[in-house]
Amino acid sequence: MRTITIKPNAISHNLGQVKKMAPHSKVLAMVKSNAYGHGVAAVLPALQQGKQQADGIGVATLSEAIEARQLGWDKTIGLIEGAFTLNEWLQAIEYDISCVIHHQPQLQWALDNIAPIDSATRVVWLKYNTGMNRLGFDAEGVIAAAKRLHEAGYQLILTTHFANADDSAHPLNAMQIQRFSDVLSTLQETISSDIKGSLCNSAGIVNFPEHHYDWVRPGIILYGSSPVIDKNAQELDLHPAMEFSAQVIALQTVHTDHAIGYGSRWTAQRDTKTALVSIGYGDGYPRVVSDETYVTVIDNTDTESRRYRCAVLGRVAMDMIVIDVSTVPEDSALNSKVILWGDAPHVDEVAAHAGTISYELLCRLSARPKRLQI
Ligand SMILES: *Cc1c(COP(=O)(O)O)cnc(C)c1O
Repeated sequence: MRTITIKPNAISHNLGQVKKMAPHSKVLAMVKSNAYGHGVAAVLPALQQGKQQADGIGVATLSEAIEARQLGWDKTIGLIEGAFTLNEWLQAIEYDISCVIHHQPQLQWALDNIAPIDSATRVVWLKYNTGMNRLGFDAEGVIAAAKRLHEAGYQLILTTHFANADDSAHPLNAMQIQRFSDVLSTLQETISSDIKGSLCNSAGIVNFPEHHYDWVRPGIILYGSSPVIDKNAQELDLHPAMEFSAQVIALQTVHTDHAIGYGSRWTAQRDTKTALVSIGYGDGYPRVVSDETYVTVIDNTDTESRRYRCAVLGRVAMDMIVIDVSTVPEDSALNSKVILWGDAPHVDEVAAHAGTISYELLCRLSARPKRLQI
């Protein structure tokens, strides 16, 4: 059985870690791209129940925002790239969604169609390009836009996004922080002291505790991955919110000098006990992984289940992989559960072995695995 199991308790725990790190900021929990592949319907309850609650959620597209409203999320929804068309701006008003405004056309829609006074769309996240050079106004443009929006009755949150927050030593961080702080002060002094600020994604929350401002925008950290290069998830006390698993469906012995799978990429140096696991790139497991990649086989023939670290051998195919089960007792290997990522290996480790980041592995899971929730 190919299974993606989501653990809402882990998300609550990770949200608690964010709140500990940023006790004075509101939390806009990022749930774009189907909550980083976890499933937005599975994640929203964890963000609005229990001790730890998010103050709002962030999404990338209007359809994601509407989906969250339809799932019953009644607090702030921030649309991080804003409306793409005038019609989307009008729909944002209809669904009570707060938008980023990052360029002139969006500014014009907002000025020509002013959101009602009691609407969440009346709060605008005004995007300042401090060095990422994707979205946002320059310093002069952002000040001019802020003046016009303020005069039209909008409440403003100045926002920007880090390009290198995962690497605390990168020189662009200090420049982005300085530019942001300077413009926010200017807006507060010349337009309104009520103007708020939002700077930090997950990595910024960890690396720049002095610069959290009014709203932090955690994404990957909520799902239990490390957002920074110099600390792993365990060191940050984060719990993985997803377990991705499959099953051993056949056993074989591959003899010395025989090769496995497409491209015959892996050749046995000695007779090797192998297992076929029902998972592949058709499920979202990465096709290209290094020879250090491993999975955990859980032998649950005993009352006390034992865990074995097993290397992935050769090419990952669409529907299957082969692993080395030399250390797993023969009579208990068949049908065992195999963890592709979860507690061990952590998705961050698999991502490193696949030459990518956890974000990508999580987002590109396919519809084939069965989805469960604890
Ligand atoms: C995705 C995103 C975030 C969250 O980023 P993480 O690295 O996952 O914490 C924050 N802000 C904006 C604007 C984003 O697009």
